[in-house]
Amino acid sequence: MPISFSDLALSPLVLRSLAEEGYATPTPIQAKAIPHVLAGRDLFGCAQTGTGKTAAFALPLIDRMLAAPRGAAPRRCRTLILAPMRELAGQIHQSFLAYGRHAGITSAVIYGGVGQQPQARAMMKGVDVLVATPGRLLDLIGQRLVDIRATEFLVLDEADRMLDMGFIHDMRKIIAMVPRERQTLFFSATLPAEVRSLADTMLRDPLEVHVTPQATSAETVSQSVVFVPKKEKKATLVKLLKAEAMPRVIVFTRTKHGADKLHRDLDKAGINAAAIHGNKTQGQRERALAAFKSQRPPVLIATDIAARGIDVDHVSHVVNFDLPHEPETYVHRIGRTGRAGQTGEAVSFCDAEEHSRLKAIEKLIRRSLVRQNEPSHEPVVEREPQRRRSPRGRARPAPRGSRSEPMAAPAPVATAVAQAAGRQRRKHRRAL
Ligand code: AMP
Repeated sequence: MPISFSDLALSPLVLRSLAEEGYATPTPIQAKAIPHVLAGRDLFGCAQTGTGKTAAFALPLIDRMLAAPRGAAPRRCRTLILAPMRELAGQIHQSFLAYGRHAGITSAVIYGGVGQQPQARAMMKGVDVLVATPGRLLDLIGQRLVDIRATEFLVLDEADRMLDMGFIHDMRKIIAMVPRERQTLFFSATLPAEVRSLADTMLRDPLEVHVTPQATSAETVSQSVVFVPKKEKKATLVKLLKAEAMPRVIVFTRTKHGADKLHRDLDKAGINAAAIHGNKTQGQRERALAAFKSQRPPVLIATDIAARGIDVDHVSHVVNFDLPHEPETYVHRIGRTGRAGQTGEAVSFCDAEEHSRLKAIEKLIRRSLVRQNEPSHEPVVEREPQRRRSPRGRARPAPRGSRSEPMAAPAPVATAVAQAAGRQRRKHRRAL
């Protein structure tokens, strides 16, 4: 599979726009489809939004139009794209403008629910690309404000959605109006029988490409939180590291000082670890990383800055010894595990002062981390920072976090930490 856009034989004008968009590598559907679309072949793509399918058809079509330049003819287009909804049509139009800006590509978008005058005006001189929803397109064709009889390239995007929305008759009418001699690209997220039969009537010897969106860390990483008083974090970590087989674990601390201290503490507890942070020399960091890669030791303590750019495969666990100030940092941290379709586990320690950070993380990722225990301390952010006692001297149950959509419990670590936390709670109660 090609590893960069320049391997795909796209024009330098298109490559320049891609570099400006910050696209470095083609997505799987782009890598598979672009060479064939460039060669003029029809395409049947089974892909959802988020896979990069828009660029998979837009980039080679811009190139195809550049390769055979032709001035625009009034009310006509060279490429016609049908989309089910105005939002999607608008996005496709914007993508053509962005990818085609150095190639001088002109594009117009037409959809229902708004006045037709500006849309008719945009079509007066003709355009390279017309993105349209079926109903409004037929309206404008009926009024002779748009003419699709010179279309060279036809794209149907989200064909299944168009069928669901009852556009089949409109689509058939439109297809009957475009020349038979054309290149057709057909995309659908699902493949019910009607989609298949529509595709069969429209495509000639198409290349079939099926892609699924890459799983995000939210799906491949089990994420949980352990509520633990600050001074007990070290003991909890030691228990966790000793209790479970963790082939490669990265422990994140917020500060360099914290990383060094934890390194010494683990050493005292007989746990072999390496540490990397900004005060270590380049040589020390490289050696620590190389050792960690070969699992000697299997534990790496890292600050966020030092962890940037670390590329180690098969990290089985991430432990957030401290929660980061920025919730986005949490997402970067857990992205170190569960890569390339493998599963991973992320365990976060949360002390009384870190509740608001936990909330910010859960808001960002739009779900709750699995609670391995209940906080035995009140969040410091509460107005009354002191522990409140019930009349019998027991700690009141602490407020539960939102449990709207808990993730699957990470089995082994959950058990080990829950047991450790349970022991701590019992000890804590005895001490009261
Ligand atoms: P789509 O599936 O076409 O809706 O694209 C999903 C998102 O991925 C859009 O925001 C695109 O801008 C972005 N995108 C598409 N191709 C690439 C790529 N090769 N590299 C980075 N981002 C991309």
